[in-house]
Amino acid sequence: MKTSTSLFEKAKRLIPGGVNSPVRAFRAVDSTPIFISRASGSRIYDVEGKEYIDYVSSWGPMILGHSHSEVIRAIKKAAERGTSYGAPTDAEVEMAKLITEAFPSIEMIRMVNSGTEATMSAIRLARGYTNREKIIKFEGCYHGHADSLLVKAGSGVATLGIPGSPGIPEKLAELTITLPFNNIETVKSAVDMYGEDIACIIVEPIPGNMGVVHPIPGFLEELREITESHGILLIFDEVITGFRLTYGGFQNIAGIEPDLTCLGKIIGGGLPVGAFGGRKDIMEKLAPTGPVYQAGTLSGNPLAMAAGITTLKILKENSGYENLDWKTDYLCQEMKKLFDQKGIPIRINRAGSMFTIFFTENEVLHFDSASKSDKKLFESYFREMFANRINIAPSQFEASFLSFAHRDEDIEITLNACAKALENLPSPSINP
Ligand SMILES: *Cc1c(COP(=O)(O)O)cnc(C)c1O
Repeated sequence: MKTSTSLFEKAKRLIPGGVNSPVRAFRAVDSTPIFISRASGSRIYDVEGKEYIDYVSSWGPMILGHSHSEVIRAIKKAAERGTSYGAPTDAEVEMAKLITEAFPSIEMIRMVNSGTEATMSAIRLARGYTNREKIIKFEGCYHGHADSLLVKAGSGVATLGIPGSPGIPEKLAELTITLPFNNIETVKSAVDMYGEDIACIIVEPIPGNMGVVHPIPGFLEELREITESHGILLIFDEVITGFRLTYGGFQNIAGIEPDLTCLGKIIGGGLPVGAFGGRKDIMEKLAPTGPVYQAGTLSGNPLAMAAGITTLKILKENSGYENLDWKTDYLCQEMKKLFDQKGIPIRINRAGSMFTIFFTENEVLHFDSASKSDKKLFESYFREMFANRINIAPSQFEASFLSFAHRDEDIEITLNACAKALENLPSPSINP
């Protein structure tokens, strides 16, 4: 029988670290990954047949739950008509219409194949449009692995403690100014100093990649004002938050219109997708209407469009966000009670159906405070939850996600698992 252990051994000989994306290797929790054979609804199954309640959600996309019947049917139907044409299709127009209708700030959109491609292209477009070279990003925000953006990034880079990455030319990294999230004064000073050279500010409006962190009141509003008055483009990276918190983006909730928006994850319904869009006068600078080059052999792929369109239509028609929000709130509150009873200080940051438990007593408002979290304790917690068949991200700097497929029963099982896990955690007095 194939086991996760045997597959991992084989994988490590053929694939660096045995995985095609670093955090999947479970290194931060000093474990080895399970290999998945299938997933359905709220559950995911490994090759040994073990069943887990899944809160990783493929790192965000699976808001309808795994292998949703309508999405699968749409993919099958599309596949029967061919898998790629390298020519425009009706589905791409429909996808563009759905996205532009859901986001008031997006007048035009272009599809790509990943979130990384979306942010990378948006940055190039911002530089091409403004004729400026520098960009501002925030520490702990992750925008994919493009060279300009892999400076003090969150997610796997934070998990593995990599400050930047070899292979990124220093001359390029110098063009990226990295500032602490939620600190508008540092933005003002940077803009005072380099204003004329700054093409864009890119931000996750609610970061999910240092764990979930909320913008303090006024932070995003001030970013909008400062960028507008200095001819800097504001880019919201809503790759996670797009269609996660409401039908549209966090920008709809915040009432702020960025110049450009990056999307991915949910809009692909579990297939490889990204997109970037925004103001028409900026988007028309892209080839073939403009000089900024950007292209993709598989962009707007018919299978990905079918999965994405079906997902968005279901989200639009059923609009169950309120219920999802309520369910997640209940789970978080009950978990907090369990930790309180055990005397382990934690902070749960939640936005809609995404949340992170930080093992710290202090408020988490930026990467500095997130990284003060007790990672050893997180590691123990992760292992205990995993042993109790609850699949959460193997890193302190990630979010957990609920889906529409998570039922009350799943929540209760999760709470029981949490209570059991806490019995086996070292009590805080022993833990340094
Ligand atoms: C996941 C993510 C990306 C990168 O998307 P990929 O599809 O993994 O390339 C970019 N930005 C944010 C906010 C993300 O969460």
